[in-house]
Amino acid sequence: MKIVIPKEIIPDEQRIALVPNAAAKLIKAGFEVAVETNAGAASGYPDAAFTEAGAKIAKTAQELYSGANVILKVRPPVLNKSAKKHEIDMMPSGAVLICFLEVLRDPGIAKLLAKNKITSFSMDTVPRISRAQSMDALSSQASAAGYKAAIIAAEASHKFFPMLTTAAGTIPPAKVFIIGAGVAGLQAIATARRLGANVEAFDIRAAAKGEVESLGAKFVQVDLGESAEAEGGYAKEVSEEAKKKEHEAVHQHVAAADIVITTAAVPGKKAPLLVTDDMVNDMKPGSIIIDMAVEQGGNVDSSKPGEVVYKHGVKIIGPINLPGKMSIHTSMMYARNITSLLNLMIKEGKLDINFEDEIIKGCCITHNGEIVHELTKQLLEK
Ligand code: NAD
Repeated sequence: MKIVIPKEIIPDEQRIALVPNAAAKLIKAGFEVAVETNAGAASGYPDAAFTEAGAKIAKTAQELYSGANVILKVRPPVLNKSAKKHEIDMMPSGAVLICFLEVLRDPGIAKLLAKNKITSFSMDTVPRISRAQSMDALSSQASAAGYKAAIIAAEASHKFFPMLTTAAGTIPPAKVFIIGAGVAGLQAIATARRLGANVEAFDIRAAAKGEVESLGAKFVQVDLGESAEAEGGYAKEVSEEAKKKEHEAVHQHVAAADIVITTAAVPGKKAPLLVTDDMVNDMKPGSIIIDMAVEQGGNVDSSKPGEVVYKHGVKIIGPINLPGKMSIHTSMMYARNITSLLNLMIKEGKLDINFEDEIIKGCCITHNGEIVHELTKQLLEK
């Protein structure tokens, strides 16, 4: 069985789906592994490290895809300009593709995959059940993103994060306010705390309180008058009345903060706008906002993907693809996640996929020329 790892095409994507260590394990289990030349160069995994692990290096994507049974990628397939072909059109019919297909954002890709008879699995729809914890790439990548956001904030800030007692006077700790305490938010809290900041956090799910407090941060309690918890620990959209209450409560904490990091998201929906222009206006000049939801529509008024915007003396940063900026470790973590999922599909050295398995059902998008993922089908019908 030939497992292949193409070089990512989406601009600035520095991750690779498999690291040499993980490749060596698959080769030891009897599989052939081929990697497109320079696929790991940007993340510190040169071709030589893959050859040493026993993998083959393909000079072009075309050569790589030829005879491939399994394709492991990070980002969704796109047009390969040098080959003048869409990546999906280079994949052999019947092959298995595993990557972040991002179907909730763009379900259209499923049509092309089905047309070309690719059996595809999306890492972002793996059910978050305990048996699938080792396959949870959303969490591993979000955790790295949360860490990086706190570091970017510290770098951008002209204030110290920790309290300092010096001969030049006592400096109070920076006040960091984090909105959204999911995987990314919790890692941002932990990182800002380690740097010595005074951290407050808010999440619309009341259940986040315990996790926030266990990291030594203060949870901002708001009585919304309704539950914001959806299935699987996710948040759901709340009523206009609850949004108003949240807005009022968040306002004063944003105004008092030196740094605000927003991470709020609702699966399959545009990110909620939480930090409005009047709140930014009430912040002290020189304050920093990092909008981690900028790629999903943004939590902050005026934030722009990949840009830095100045508003009322506040620096608003809209970072894109933060996991890609931690590519040595995020590739390592992603490789662990993706091989765990692949191992679930393998028996005695061969692909043997149980389409009735809850994990497989949750993340299989296309099979046998059909779109089999219910949510993707619903999104396409809209
Ligand atoms: P996410 O990226 O979908 O959202 C980030 C956070 O934003 C969430 O905590 C959400 O509650 C919050 N949010 C949404 N709307 C908001 C609003 N209007 N105001 C403030 N906050 C808002 O979430 P995620 O990081 O993927 O995690 C979601 C949940 O899944 C968490 O409870 C997490 O603990 C849980 N989880 C479970 C597992 C598992 O069981 N294996 C794994 C990972 C995450």
